[in-house]
Amino acid sequence: MTLPKMHKPDENGFYGPYGGCFVPPPLEGPLKQLGDTFLKFIEDPAFIAEFDAELQSYSGRPTPLYHAQRLSEYVGATILLKREDLNHLGAHKMNNCLGQVLLAKRSGKKKIIAETGAGQHGVATAAVAARFGMECDIYMGAEDMRRQSMNVKRIEMMGARVVSVKSGDATLTSAVDEAIGAYVAEADTAHYLLGSAVGPHPYPLIVRTFQSVIGREARAQCLAQFDRLPDRLVACVGGGSNAIGLFSAFLEDEVKMVGVEAAGSGLESDRHAATLTLGEPAVIHGMNTYCLPDGMVAPGGNHCIAAGLDYPGIGPEHSELKDKGRVQYESATDAEVMIAFRKLCELEGILPAFESSHALAYLETLRNNIGSDEIVIVNLSGRGDKDLDEYFLRSE
Ligand SMILES: *Cc1c(COP(=O)(O)O)cnc(C)c1O
Repeated sequence: MTLPKMHKPDENGFYGPYGGCFVPPPLEGPLKQLGDTFLKFIEDPAFIAEFDAELQSYSGRPTPLYHAQRLSEYVGATILLKREDLNHLGAHKMNNCLGQVLLAKRSGKKKIIAETGAGQHGVATAAVAARFGMECDIYMGAEDMRRQSMNVKRIEMMGARVVSVKSGDATLTSAVDEAIGAYVAEADTAHYLLGSAVGPHPYPLIVRTFQSVIGREARAQCLAQFDRLPDRLVACVGGGSNAIGLFSAFLEDEVKMVGVEAAGSGLESDRHAATLTLGEPAVIHGMNTYCLPDGMVAPGGNHCIAAGLDYPGIGPEHSELKDKGRVQYESATDAEVMIAFRKLCELEGILPAFESSHALAYLETLRNNIGSDEIVIVNLSGRGDKDLDEYFLRSE
């Protein structure tokens, strides 16, 4: 499988007015070098072949495009699930981690640095570091370590070091600050492995490119199974990597696209992850993008049901796609997500991640409100075993 010619940002990493690289001077050199390395290897057939082989043998790709027949009957259209939950470690995050660790290896880096909030990106990063025999430091807020103790154990089992961050609110934001500080000091020998299509250029481009395997596979599978393209794509949006990975293969086609953000409890005061629905453009985390004003971000974050969607910003490419009207952005509340979670378990025997259940919740809007001949692809970004305890706690 080869990588597609894709919409690229301009040479400074801008998607229209969004994106760019707003970082302190010590980070400029290392990021420029990373961008150059990426552009070189992404044209190199040997690199692409190695990436494809890892996706296949380590992560289990291609993932199926599954025709969910009982769910289809319920919705009143053909629903296909892109089974990213079947990747190694149960989510799409592995695609990006494998791509970046290969980049790091080819650049002669010996160490991987990453930050994690809910811990899922930390686990996937620790896994690829183990796979390639690299040293690995995962920065995690002390409060997040307490809440996600199982993921801390997983990371440590794989031989990585979890660095507990006690400064600030002891959650993701402080962990990012400390991880970047460590990276600045070790940029010659370390690679910073960012987990979503966010942050300063070149990260949004790198992560989108490695996740684009989702869309390329889904496109070919839909053509093979139904002899035509889908009418609609639906994906959940945290930072936006699984969504842009799916959408990127269809941007030139007449295919409708819907990104679903987390609306938390649905109360005005708590709609802190619905970045595109409620936010405004500003510079955060090294990029210009839609983000929620400070007053709307709950201290310590983590108030919507899916920790993986709890991010106050969004990848810059999504900001441009929103302004262009190319993608429609919606949001789902925790209560809607709980219903969609249960529905998929009961109808199809598949436990979706709470994150992915945001995309599934949108099907309720389409139900009996959609042409029966329509084909909809829903990106099932991850598996939901991790969310079962929370489901039962919340339904008591
Ligand atoms: C991390 C995560 C997400 C959110 O990240 P994106 O970059 O928006 O894709 C969604 N689903 C699952 C299962 C995740 O682990």
